[in-house]
Formats: sequence, C-alpha cells, structure tokens
Amino acid sequence: MSERDEALADLLAYGRFLGGMSSLGVRPAAPLPAPAPAAGGPGDPADALAAVREELGDCRRCRLAAGRKTIVFGQGNPRAEIMFVGEAPGADEDEQGLAFVGRAGQLLTDIIEKGMRLPRSDVFIANVIKCRPPQNRNPEPDEILACQPFLDAQIRAIRPRVLVGLGKFGAQWLLRTAEPISRLRGRLGDRDGIPVMPTFHPAYLLRNPAGKKDVWEDMKAVLRLLGRPVPGESD
Ligand code: URA
Repeated sequence: MSERDEALADLLAYGRFLGGMSSLGVRPAAPLPAPAPAAGGPGDPADALAAVREELGDCRRCRLAAGRKTIVFGQGNPRAEIMFVGEAPGADEDEQGLAFVGRAGQLLTDIIEKGMRLPRSDVFIANVIKCRPPQNRNPEPDEILACQPFLDAQIRAIRPRVLVGLGKFGAQWLLRTAEPISRLRGRLGDRDGIPVMPTFHPAYLLRNPAGKKDVWEDMKAVLRLLGRPVPGESD
C-alpha cells in the first residue's frame, strides 16, 4: 500500500472509531515488519527515528502547540522489541520533554524493571499525542489525527516485535477501535501485523492498585510472546 493509501485507510478507520464502530475485520492487511537493518546502514532504526523527529520539527499542526512547553517525542531503544504507547504528556513530561517521568512513569518503570526484569532503556516509550493537553484533559479527535502520522512513522522506524497499549487512548488508537479498555485488556490484537497487548494505564493503577495483577498477567503474556524468561515461572 502506498503511504497515501495507508493514510486514507487510517483516516477511514478513525472515522469508524469516532462513529463508535470497531473496524476489526475491515482493515486492509499490511505486511509483517522485516527484521531491523544493520546499524548505520540504510533503514537503520535510529536514523529513521531521527528523520521522524526532524519532520515533526517545532510542530504547530494542532492547538496544543499554544500551551505546551516541550514536544515529548518519546524515548528509548530505537531497536526495541517492546514499544509502549501511552496517552499524552502530563506536567512533568511537558517540563522535561520525556515520556512517562512523573508518578505514572515511575510505576511504568517498576513494571518494566522490577516486574519484567528489563532495563527501561531497552524498550521504547511514546504517547498517542506529543504535547500536553491543557489541565491534562483528554486528547481531542483532531489532535490525535494531527499527531498520528508521527506515531505511525515511529512504529515503522522501530518495528517492535510487540506493542503495548497503555489505557484507553493507547489501546484504542493502536487497535483502531472504540471498545472500552475494560474489554480490550489482556486480549492480544494487532496493528499492521505487529501484535498489540492492551493493558491498563499506570495512572489508573495508581488509583486502582487491584488492577496491577491484571497488568502483570498482560506483561507475562508479552514476555512469553517474545520467548523471554517470565519471572516467577522459570526461576
Ligand atoms: N501519562 C501518559 O499517558 N503519558 C505520559 O508520558 C505520562 C503520563
């Protein structure tokens, strides 16, 4: 599919999303991601990501530019096997220009490092939108649409083996669906051939710690999918 067709398919899928309809089953198939090319060679994920950042520039494509301090592009390993997708930067992220560095971010770090026993620097972490909405309100549909070519381009650059959708916005965007997170959580889906694990957002877990055991089940499923050791099962 050409980039233009892909963008159109996304837009149509998002239209169905806005109409409250799941697009499952009507999405055009996309090829599986190829293995990551050699460092420094053509298609090197780090170079590809840098090109996406350059294209984003000092973005003014939506109203959020007016109130943000910094663009939060996302950070981590350009060759990550696991890519987490959250909602939007909060105050701490806007201040520091880094994704998930506030309280929810600390919990995400614990999930990755204490739970999954992976260095956080091994994964990549980004958000559906790259600028903080005023008063941390939910992102608006047109803001998501303005930002989505960049997250899609980041996913194409990194080509992770699995995507984790954090909370309603991350999960629904990745899966192009309007199903509630309560129903999506724990059920493996896919985005353009890449497996997607939807799970609860760490900010939700701060308010509802009982949800942590579900998130842990989801992260264990991610580790199993990758053929990695599952703490508590093999040691
Ligand atoms: N919540 C998010 O969804 N993303 C962040 O980067 C921080 C908090």
